[in-house]
Amino acid sequence: MFGIFNRKKKEELNKGLDESKKSILSRISRSIVGKSRVDQNMLDNIEEVLIESDVGVETTLKIIENLEQFAKEERFVDPEELNRLIVKSAEKILAENQSGGNLYDFDLKDAPSPYVVMVVGVNGVGKTTTIGKLAHAYKKAGKNVVLGAADTFRAAAVDQLKIWGERVGVQVVTQGMGADPASVAFDAVSSGKAKNADVIIIDTAGRLHNKANLMNELSKIKRVMQKVVDDAPHEILLVLDASTGQNAIEQARQFIQTTEVNTLALTKLDGTAKGGVVIGISDQFKIPVKYIGIGEGLDDLQLFNQAEFIKSLFGIVE
Ligand code: GDP
Ligand code: GDP
Ligand code: MG
Repeated sequence: MFGIFNRKKKEELNKGLDESKKSILSRISRSIVGKSRVDQNMLDNIEEVLIESDVGVETTLKIIENLEQFAKEERFVDPEELNRLIVKSAEKILAENQSGGNLYDFDLKDAPSPYVVMVVGVNGVGKTTTIGKLAHAYKKAGKNVVLGAADTFRAAAVDQLKIWGERVGVQVVTQGMGADPASVAFDAVSSGKAKNADVIIIDTAGRLHNKANLMNELSKIKRVMQKVVDDAPHEILLVLDASTGQNAIEQARQFIQTTEVNTLALTKLDGTAKGGVVIGISDQFKIPVKYIGIGEGLDDLQLFNQAEFIKSLFGIVE
């Protein structure tokens, strides 16, 4: 099963989402304090809380519709019950929108081999860090990992990936700063293939969707990889910084239009109150959120589990 959840992971997730949870819960309870019935005023308040929590307008409106239905049927409501109702409708909405997609777990069961991943996104969102964590997770699952340092724009970028490679104990293919990123990607995929790597992950420079030359560079990187592995890259992972809220949604929209992104990672959920954005993004785009980042350490990456995430965000403890 994809993204199996044990108690430890649940605790880590709860901790990571703490800020978002506190913000959402305190505001919801404020809007229902002293009331025993769901009324229009309460619904308006909850709507405002959800929209401001970056859950997204469309998702929020659907949740409110479900709550309205409930308001017609039931008499009393306490905060906990209301949270459960919101969770239930959010789960329903997101389940309806589940996009199929081939989401391989770290065991890479049934995945092409070598499995080639290209990581894209704007500067500073956490691409390189996520690659370090991914390398660690794949290695723990017994996979051979090769990394490619195709962010050649800044010297520090190459060094940063090398440091992650050393920490995790995996090979990093580099040509240094200023090298042609496509050439590095070619080398990394060739080297990985020759060494029977299970997974090859290519780091790329931070780029804005509206810089045509940089977007063309991505196409070139892809074309060049395909000379070695003809259906590479199997995964184009767009990394987004959840703490930027609506900005992350905007970046997703624009990257998805210009590149064949097929998985998403939302980072920096720890220490932000904007965790709701993961729900907004899951509901809005047909591209699955595959990973969430909840810290700077090696183990602070989780496969996104929608049901667990929503429960954690609304403080539902089981
Ligand atoms: P890149 O420019 O996209 O490659 O971003 P980096 O991987 O260099 O990360 C930028 C900063 O964000 C670094 O300081 C990372 O430690 C930090 N970072 C990345 N992921 C997370 C996360 O999940 N949580 C926290 N708190 N920080 C993160
Ligand atoms: P601005 O900051 O909005 O003016 O945009 P820039 O053109 O300076 O660059 C945005 C980001 O794209 C930079 O921080 C770099 O990481 C990246 N970048 C810019 N030019 C190049 C380039 O020629 N090659 C690569 N690989 N990355 C670039
Ligand atoms: Mg980087």
